[in-house]
Amino acid sequence: MPKFIFVTGGVLSALGKGIAAASIGMLLESHGYKITLQKFDPYLNVDPGTMNPFQHGEVYVTDDGAETDLDLGHYERFTSTKTTKAHNWTAGKIYELILRKEREGQFLGKTVQVIPHVTDEIKNAFYAVSNDNDIVIIEIGGTVGDIEGLPFLEATRQMRLSLGPENTLFVHLTLVPFIKTSGELKTKPTQHSVKELRAIGIQPDIILCRTDRFLSPEIRQKISLFTNVPLEAVITAKDVDNIYEIPLIFAQQQLDKIIIKRLGLPPRRRHLRRWKEMVERMKHPRDEVNIALVGKYAGLHDSYISLKQALDHAGTAHHLKVNIAWVEAEELECNSPECILKEADGILVPGGFGVRGIEGKINAITYARVNKIPFFGICLGMQCATIEFARHVAGLKEANSTEFNPRTPHKIFFKWRELKGVKQLGGTMRLGAYLCHLKKGSLAEKAYHRLAIWERHRHRYEFNPAYESLLSKAGLIISGKNPDHDLVEIIELPDHPWFLGCQFHPEFKSKPLQPHPLFKAFIGASYAYRCQKNNS
Ligand code: GLN
Repeated sequence: MPKFIFVTGGVLSALGKGIAAASIGMLLESHGYKITLQKFDPYLNVDPGTMNPFQHGEVYVTDDGAETDLDLGHYERFTSTKTTKAHNWTAGKIYELILRKEREGQFLGKTVQVIPHVTDEIKNAFYAVSNDNDIVIIEIGGTVGDIEGLPFLEATRQMRLSLGPENTLFVHLTLVPFIKTSGELKTKPTQHSVKELRAIGIQPDIILCRTDRFLSPEIRQKISLFTNVPLEAVITAKDVDNIYEIPLIFAQQQLDKIIIKRLGLPPRRRHLRRWKEMVERMKHPRDEVNIALVGKYAGLHDSYISLKQALDHAGTAHHLKVNIAWVEAEELECNSPECILKEADGILVPGGFGVRGIEGKINAITYARVNKIPFFGICLGMQCATIEFARHVAGLKEANSTEFNPRTPHKIFFKWRELKGVKQLGGTMRLGAYLCHLKKGSLAEKAYHRLAIWERHRHRYEFNPAYESLLSKAGLIISGKNPDHDLVEIIELPDHPWFLGCQFHPEFKSKPLQPHPLFKAFIGASYAYRCQKNNS
């Protein structure tokens, strides 16, 4: 049976609980322990798939096709854990299970109640990924004090009762703000948050204090006294520019050793050399490269968190800093692309939904194709690149996707599943990992150095097979196909330094120590373009 670490958060949201949990996972893994991480979200949506990305941030997709919270992305990037449906639970998903059981009469006439029925279902979920792991790290979403969070915290409390203190550990992340006017750090929010937690019956074992500076021994002493947490376990979670530094800041304060001791695990040596080297490389790039990201942002970048990470990983692989210019696609509809994109060494059109900004994205792609600027299209970006080619190279002027114009005479992308009559259980998207065979000698094969890959999908529309031969004859290279459904997965252009679009989302599989091959190739090509531009 594994040991359980519960990570809760206080004071306010967005303190970086997911990254703190992932960092703990990374450190324990560096000692050779087998770990995994789970996220529990107290909201009532069954999964974040239908939630507005501008409110909830990115929807992260797992191999088994679950649409999950973006924190699972941090778990996979910081550790070697492979997340699945069973790694992300919401109150909605828990209640859905209970209500189904109730309808099936499984409660044998009993009154169905939050305690014990909801809490039992939550506890079952805590065990859902135990397998052969030594430690399961469970992040409880939301902030202590939220009404929705109570059943999750109650289930957490019960875990200590049934498994004992040597098998459970409570970590609480709070805020210690620096108040400029008085020039001092304030511990009161932390005191209140811990008081709230203790009222529920949870005494934290470790406090992580999010703050902008290392806490002095006096402040830590004060927090220790008021929260009843030993001084050594009051840890500074200092603001950093680079999230990958966080495990190192924790390690500096021996957080991993404290956890291992508290859980009664045999001490081992930690191995952080590769991680440290990676962070050093990230902090000291030898040069930079400018990438224009042409999308729909409304000022918020959280919906592209994996993408940004994947670009950073690829930059690190080349020892470069990647400067991202977030370009609003709609601006490219009224202004000339040259004015907005002239600084770009590479242009990337990421995934997205809906017609707004599509023509701007297509203008950006024309600009990249004609001027031979490295281009990378992901999901929607690949669809736009194919449409651009169909319109301007293959001469199908009204080419489109039925998502943007249902009445187009040239349906280059369409809802393949509907037309094929594939029966749908639930959603209508192609989700999760699919096999893709690569064409020998293609940019894709050169990037991956292999001929078969698995990548994750999240989209409704597919390349229309009726246009495959026409577009190929016009010069489009189809370099990746799914053999099971005969679907086009990757397109490329000849006579161009690097122009590639993929129907899947490679960003979900990029890690700082294993940058994704396509991102790495794209950044390499963009940098080569930059050098050539600067030399001419
Ligand atoms: N909107 C497109 C589709 O549904 C692309 C989706 C995406 O980029 N994830 O197919």
